[in-house]
Amino acid sequence: MTNPEVVAPTIPDSDALHRRGLMFILSSPSGAGKTTVSRMLLQRDERLRMSVSVTTRSPRPGEVDGRDYHFTDHAGFERMVEDGEFLEWAHVFGHSYGTPKAEVKAGLREGNDYLFDIDWQGTQQLYQKMQSDVVRVFLLPPSIDELRRRLNARGTDSAEVIASRMERAKAEISHWDGYDYVIVNDDIDICFAKVSQILASERMRRMRQTGLIPFVRELTAPDS
Ligand code: 5GP
Repeated sequence: MTNPEVVAPTIPDSDALHRRGLMFILSSPSGAGKTTVSRMLLQRDERLRMSVSVTTRSPRPGEVDGRDYHFTDHAGFERMVEDGEFLEWAHVFGHSYGTPKAEVKAGLREGNDYLFDIDWQGTQQLYQKMQSDVVRVFLLPPSIDELRRRLNARGTDSAEVIASRMERAKAEISHWDGYDYVIVNDDIDICFAKVSQILASERMRRMRQTGLIPFVRELTAPDS
């Protein structure tokens, strides 16, 4: 586990720029460090919010409704699909998962950024709908052997559960070509630094700036 004291904070945004928020998607197979990196980002970056998904799967021990997921049943999920309340949704390993639309759309207009922990199917759907707002990052483990070692090291799961996680991981990894950035996570602090750099660079893209900085507006006015 990383020591939070030795990790640099994320690079701050400039107040002079006014921009639309971005949709920062972090995908990976389980065991590649996505949960740790997400937590580090959310702790250190006040402009970043988590998009909380809706799911039909049951809460795991320690999970809190409304924080980790909005837990619902099949009928509730179907109703939301029919009412068009999702930005994207998919069946993932036997359960349904979806991203609620309302909060994210309003937040993006206000310049807030959202972090998404969604699978490759959801990533594709968001990209098709909101291409210019989406940044897609995929975390890879250093090797399949290292992934197996990390899943074994948790020590809580049976051989059967680990084998099925490995199969899921291989299926997720096969979709790595649907992402803009790929990071191999062989050191969690370095991986976090790389993810932070991507976020900072993407925030500075000119196309995201919604209003010109006053002195730039003056300089570029037709009669100047
Ligand atoms: P878990 O049940 O372990 O929390 O998540 C299982 C998988 O579902 C993970 O790959 C996760 O990224 C994905 N997932 C979680 N929420 C969503 C969502 O709203 N949409 C999609 N497409 N996938 C999701």
